[in-house]
Amino acid sequence: AKAMGRGTFCFFETVMDADRQARRDLETVLQQALESNQFELYYQPQVDTITEQVVGFEALLRWHHPERGLVSPVEFIPLAEETGMIVPIGEWVLRQACKDAASWPADIGVAVNLSPLQFKSQTLAHTVVSALGDAGLPASRLELEITESVLLTDNDTALATLHHIRSLGVRIAMDDFGTGYSSLSYLRLFPFDKIKIDQSFIRELGNSKDCAAIVKAVVDLGASLGITTTAEGVETSDQLNRVREQGCSEIQGYLFGKPLPISSVHELLKRHSPE
Ligand code: C2E
Ligand code: CA
Ligand code: CA
Ligand code: CA
Repeated sequence: AKAMGRGTFCFFETVMDADRQARRDLETVLQQALESNQFELYYQPQVDTITEQVVGFEALLRWHHPERGLVSPVEFIPLAEETGMIVPIGEWVLRQACKDAASWPADIGVAVNLSPLQFKSQTLAHTVVSALGDAGLPASRLELEITESVLLTDNDTALATLHHIRSLGVRIAMDDFGTGYSSLSYLRLFPFDKIKIDQSFIRELGNSKDCAAIVKAVVDLGASLGITTTAEGVETSDQLNRVREQGCSEIQGYLFGKPLPISSVHELLKRHSPE
């Protein structure tokens, strides 16, 4: 039994060593990707439901891997979070998005996704101030998207940071609303400016009375709390008509545009008439 116990111990140690090594390799690869400019931001239009005008863009990260080609963030963000590399990568995203947006018309905003880990670094509020300042972008044109997991752990520090950032004039959006277990209680914890209704609800709008009722309830709840709502993943004009009837203020989805490289954003904005 003793030998077996030792054997078992050794086995796990080996696996853990392999894990640590794999983790270090991955960290190195992500570090090199950052240093050699393999990351690029794509931008997806956010559109006013009534006027159908573009009001902003969400920055979405892409990785041009030298051998594997374009890698989806769904694949590498979890790895970047596991290795901690999401902190420097996230800072790059924030700085690049602010720089890009500074050249857009003054009524066009930019939304940036933040990972929960970025709130653990203690310097996030300072990084936001510095990114805005270096880019010369007014705080009112930046929106930060967080998921409820930011408030799940260590929520005193995260809350204080969020309040600090919001006091600068940056808007805070709750992303993927309705996919977690306690979205409603988080609305009580922090004065969000925007709720982004998860695309899983929008996808089923035409087939499910329940989904339609949920979307309607979220829009009404937002309205009574002074929070605007965005419908994510709008792909059809039927979905657009439904979310418009229900009072969603903005939509984002393939119907109006997939995430675009910056050159296409500039093309699109040439046709944009400022308000
Ligand atoms: P998300 O923040 O919920 O972003 C929306 C995702 O839905 C994007 O996927 C977008 O391309 C996709 N989408 C938009 N409209 C439609 C539609 O009409 N139909 C369908 N089927 N999909 C649509 P993407 O770009 O692959 O990003 C996936 C996720 O990766 C994001 O989900 C976000 O959680 C994460 N992510 C992306 N960029 C960043 C980043 O810079 N930082 C962090 N922390 N996470 C990021
Ligand atoms: Ca998002
Ligand atoms: Ca989302
Ligand atoms: Ca998501």
